[in-house]
Amino acid sequence: MIGLDALAQDQLDAWVSDAKTKTQLGRLPDYIPLLTQTKPNTVAVEIQTTKGKIFSAGEVTQPFALMSVIKPFLLLFVLERSGADEVFKQVGMKPSDQPFHSLTQLSSDRGYPRNPMINSGAIALAALLPGKDGAARCKALCDWLNRLADTHLTLDRAMLTSVRSMANESNRAIAHMLSQAGHLTSVEMALDTYNHICCLSGTVEDLARLGLLLASSSGIARQHQQIVNALMLTCGLYEASGAFAVRIGLPTKSGVSGALLSIVPKEGAIAAYSPAIDPTGNSVAGLFLLEKLATHLKLSIFG
Ligand code: GLN
Repeated sequence: MIGLDALAQDQLDAWVSDAKTKTQLGRLPDYIPLLTQTKPNTVAVEIQTTKGKIFSAGEVTQPFALMSVIKPFLLLFVLERSGADEVFKQVGMKPSDQPFHSLTQLSSDRGYPRNPMINSGAIALAALLPGKDGAARCKALCDWLNRLADTHLTLDRAMLTSVRSMANESNRAIAHMLSQAGHLTSVEMALDTYNHICCLSGTVEDLARLGLLLASSSGIARQHQQIVNALMLTCGLYEASGAFAVRIGLPTKSGVSGALLSIVPKEGAIAAYSPAIDPTGNSVAGLFLLEKLATHLKLSIFG
């Protein structure tokens, strides 16, 4: 079996059953109150191919906040609006070996974020969105994505309230450091925008459709697709990115909600959701499913 289109539905169903047992190996994140209330053994997956095939299995109607899976699409939007030169003035293209909210590297890099897939890079890019406040800026991104990808993303207001209820000290410290380095003018606006966009919510179907924007010709500049895919491959799973480039070999982004998206260039997208995560912040069952799919269908871009 080679390629996404060769997938058999009964095989996918069997892997989703196996994935459910793997959820015990992960934990729900404990720092966003509402994320502690999700059902840890939920598993959902949807695969959409550029030829129009759709495969799905598990609890596919369950909506979830995208959290950091919005980061590649924030990058894509800012690339399309402002161009690569503007983007890379604010953020780098270097992998990071620190956790996603780490201050250590940002400090040693003099306030220049390593890449757009970690919090510092996304908070810097959130400052480039158009609009008068966090809500308007989030809406600009949400409307653009829904129009282009035919998705039904909505703002999860309860999740936003939950995120706002936390002290959020590391993101606040990141924003202050960015501001001191001249990468953003309003700490409050950048943080509020970032919190909003992390709470954009959808289903695995929405996530797979978003993925198609990066998989094939979709009205997006090819050069911008290449930039986003390259940064997802090298930085999308944080410190685990290198290991999963070897094991899976696909541009992939995770979110702390358990959302996971892989791009199979020219072929399609794989979206998974399962809220139990590993210590790096990546969905345990989601990575299990991705690895099964990538290995059996020989999907690695390096194969
Ligand atoms: N909103 C979350 C945070 O900033 C997103 C992080 C993530 O998904 N890894 O902590």
